[in-house]
Amino acid sequence: MARQARWLVKSSALGLVSLALQGAGSVTVGLLRYQAPGTITVSAPAYQARSAGRTVQLAGATEVVARGRVVELRSHGKVVLSGPRLQLVGPAPFLLTPPGRRYAGTLAITAKGALLPNLSLPLEAYVAATTGDEMPADWPAAALTAQALASRSYAEALPGRHAADGYDFCDLTHCQLFRGLAAQDARVTAAAAVTRGKVLGWHGTAIAALWHSTCGGRLAANDEVFGGERLPYLPGHPDRDAAGRPWCADSPHAHPWRVAYGGEAVTKALRTAKVLGAAEVLRGIQVTDTGDVALAVRVSGARTHALTGYALWMALGPSFGWGEIKSPRFTVAREGARYTFQGEGLGHLVGMCQWGARGRALAGQGWEAIARAYFPGATIIAGTRTPRRPADRPRPGP
Ligand SMILES: [Zn+2]
Ligand SMILES: [Zn+2]
Repeated sequence: MARQARWLVKSSALGLVSLALQGAGSVTVGLLRYQAPGTITVSAPAYQARSAGRTVQLAGATEVVARGRVVELRSHGKVVLSGPRLQLVGPAPFLLTPPGRRYAGTLAITAKGALLPNLSLPLEAYVAATTGDEMPADWPAAALTAQALASRSYAEALPGRHAADGYDFCDLTHCQLFRGLAAQDARVTAAAAVTRGKVLGWHGTAIAALWHSTCGGRLAANDEVFGGERLPYLPGHPDRDAAGRPWCADSPHAHPWRVAYGGEAVTKALRTAKVLGAAEVLRGIQVTDTGDVALAVRVSGARTHALTGYALWMALGPSFGWGEIKSPRFTVAREGARYTFQGEGLGHLVGMCQWGARGRALAGQGWEAIARAYFPGATIIAGTRTPRRPADRPRPGP
């Protein structure tokens, strides 16, 4: 499953002040920021390109090229438009290469050495896309629907995460994985439509409804993982059926995991993450406080470094990969020069357990029951960023 790194920064999401960049109903996604392409080929049957007060009609493939802070649009090798900002509008989706994916919406492209494409699209289309990117389309409808509800809640709760850079969300797991129309599937679209305009709320406000892959049978409270205040709808609690079996028992990550590294590799990883100084030698790692996750860790080098289990997990992930030390629920043992990490679950373990949602759906639970199980006390309310359809408006009584 391509959802390894989502929980990376969902954490810092908690507590951000909402800031809507766009009008109601629309979100802007910053595409390909980590790829930083200098040239993108854009293709669509027919579209309009606007830049520096000029508009041209185009069909087929054109090249968009960054020249410093200027964006050039080239057709058949000739520059047809040039300016600080290029806007592409068309009725059909655009094929962008890289990344070789289709995107529906309006593109606004600026440049800063590399191209900075932003895609504006309706919130509901964004939710349908991210739901398909975050959960396999062949999972039960109730699980997909709960995922769509969580995705929309998250998007409504935290618009403008990247406001400083001119867009709402990035297209990586930092926000929500978004690959345009790549994961478009009728089952996902239907699941998103079931909850159209609905979000999980707390006292009338959309909540950042976090999710992760596999909890292993018990969810962790938000503060145990990310610090800060405990949020009433993100408590630590068991995720088990009446027989005591984890709802996520079918996950390939349901079993406890164990991984060992040589001291040199751990030292190098901790230096890279700046937990240890550049020349500091690792002498030991101890988990000093444990709750549902490793709460406090002591890393001993030339001096002692105190950090949270989540921070150590974050520090080692970039070097070892997120599929090795899979969650912040771990213990560390030292045997000679080797450090053995043992733990449970995959992901940050807060909020909705996706494999648990699947297990519950297969057992007959509906999407509302699933949402209530993972976000206790939260209520399902009308979001504020989905425009109402005429059918949604209150009608006069009989
Ligand atoms: Zn992001
Ligand atoms: Zn679970």
